[in-house]
Amino acid sequence: MMDENFFDSFHDPVIAGPMAESLISLKPTRPLTLMHVCGTHEHSLAKAGIRSMLPTGLRLVAGPGCPVCVCPASDISLAVQAASLPDVTLATFGDMFRVPSGETTLELLKARGADVRVVYSPLDALSIAMEDPDKEVVFMAVGFETTIAPIAAALRTVSVPNFSVITSLRLVPPALEFLLERSEGALDGFILPGHVSIVLGREGYSFLEDAGIPGVISGFEPVDMLQGILELARMVEAGPPFKTANLYRRVVTEEGNRKARELIESVFTVSDSNWRGIGTIPGSGLRLREEYSRFDAVEKMNLSPDPNAVDVMPGCICHKVILGEAESEDCPLFGTGCTPRMPVGPCMVSSEGTCRARYQYRQV
Ligand code: SF4
Repeated sequence: MMDENFFDSFHDPVIAGPMAESLISLKPTRPLTLMHVCGTHEHSLAKAGIRSMLPTGLRLVAGPGCPVCVCPASDISLAVQAASLPDVTLATFGDMFRVPSGETTLELLKARGADVRVVYSPLDALSIAMEDPDKEVVFMAVGFETTIAPIAAALRTVSVPNFSVITSLRLVPPALEFLLERSEGALDGFILPGHVSIVLGREGYSFLEDAGIPGVISGFEPVDMLQGILELARMVEAGPPFKTANLYRRVVTEEGNRKARELIESVFTVSDSNWRGIGTIPGSGLRLREEYSRFDAVEKMNLSPDPNAVDVMPGCICHKVILGEAESEDCPLFGTGCTPRMPVGPCMVSSEGTCRARYQYRQV
């Protein structure tokens, strides 16, 4: 049986203190830029104030690790269209509620009388469909590998005709490859997302080793984050060859969750995908396989994405923030014209957004 104090140790100041001191006293021999690609990592970093401990010469930037932040306005326009139809219930995760698509949001639509509901899982949406067979229930599915597996499981089991999905699903590895190409050597290493890695396993990052870039799979507690940054900086300084380090072995295995990947592959097929404010990343999305096309809300309800949907609102630099090319604090609207109460861009809406985390914990 696991020691009940096991998890406490990951935010134990007695353990974190010396690690923080090691981080503060690091002296990189050249400027280093490390990137994490996980909204929960950003949240943890901001909450624990870890960026304030980074030594001179070491930058830790955020990548496109928030699935809500990278969901393009054109995908949200599909959900808005569906929710505007009579006898349709639109179900989605809470953070999608307030993300803008042009002048509107799902929240505004609900205020005007549309049946828009927040759910915590695709099975919740499925339950709504089973309880109300006279209505079409459309689930707007947004997420990375970790979220995709339960969505695939729900579609494998569904037996009601009044359930369909709008898929806005994205894969992390193609995004990392895109970032590497785009950065032209400016990124020195990745802190890899703990949750997604449960599905991919350490083996899922072999392409990083081929590209000669170091990576560490990290958990989310302060000790995890400190250890991850220290280990990654150490690997960069030591130089190639690089082997992805798994520092989250309490949940991430070498091969990951093979069953989850098979489940995903049985329901979806890989496609190119548009990332909000970034553009198309080849092979980074998923669409339903032909056998599951009956669940495709876009076909079923003849929806079409709004070609004029605006991804980047005037003054917002969210797209640069999620590419690690700007900090939230560089945005002139940060904390003034854009706050969690009155967000302008998705990075301030989503609980996994970089701007939201930086704003929420800016006093720390
Ligand atoms: S602070 Fe708001 S407006 Fe500025 S980049 Fe972040 S989300 Fe966009």
